[in-house]
Amino acid sequence: MHKYKYIFFDLDHTLWDYEKNSKTTLKLVYDHFQLFNLKIDFQRFYKTFKKVNNKLWIQYNRREISQQDIRTKRFVEIFSQFNLENKELCLQISNFYMEKGPQEIGLISGTISILNYLADKYKMLILTNGFEHTQHTKLRCTNIKDYFHHVVTSENSGFVKPDTAIFDFALNLCQIEPQHAIMIGDNLQTDILGAKNSGIDSVYFNPDYRQDTIGANYNISSLHQLSDIL
Ligand SMILES: [Mg+2]
Repeated sequence: MHKYKYIFFDLDHTLWDYEKNSKTTLKLVYDHFQLFNLKIDFQRFYKTFKKVNNKLWIQYNRREISQQDIRTKRFVEIFSQFNLENKELCLQISNFYMEKGPQEIGLISGTISILNYLADKYKMLILTNGFEHTQHTKLRCTNIKDYFHHVVTSENSGFVKPDTAIFDFALNLCQIEPQHAIMIGDNLQTDILGAKNSGIDSVYFNPDYRQDTIGANYNISSLHQLSDIL
């Protein structure tokens, strides 16, 4: 008898290769909107995106801003870093990015083989702070949707990780107690802290070998290491 019944997986940066996919999408944006005509250098555009996007997501995870704010502010702030201002163009870019981005199919190395391995032993659930429509598109386009019995997002639950309410929502959906779930994610402040506060064991997916300041039950640098734990 396995100790755990359900695996809760984060999606972005844990299974879906956010870095690679966002870079590919930004290149599409850059070419489609001919940003070189605005004297924007692609590498600087990408670096600026990462900085602004990370900042906005941290604010979103703290519930300081809404999803709509991320969509409307992201490219306006990036443009301002280049001393440019064009709200209409930024809105078009944002819509283009939101449409194309989730269709990218880059997965973190080892995703399919570990999902195949785990699917024989456990049920699985996606637990994500991402947008409902966006996350479902990612799961569908990467062909991994069928591995998961449930997809819990901030939109369909009404809560944002690390709020324990979103973990309780997921436990309720699965009809299990906290000790029968384990959370796997790359974000200490949302995935690991939220799981810990909810009485759920956790695996910190930590490919960059950052210091684990929260204290996950397990640390891994590669997804295939999950087969040693589970
Ligand atoms: Mg993540």
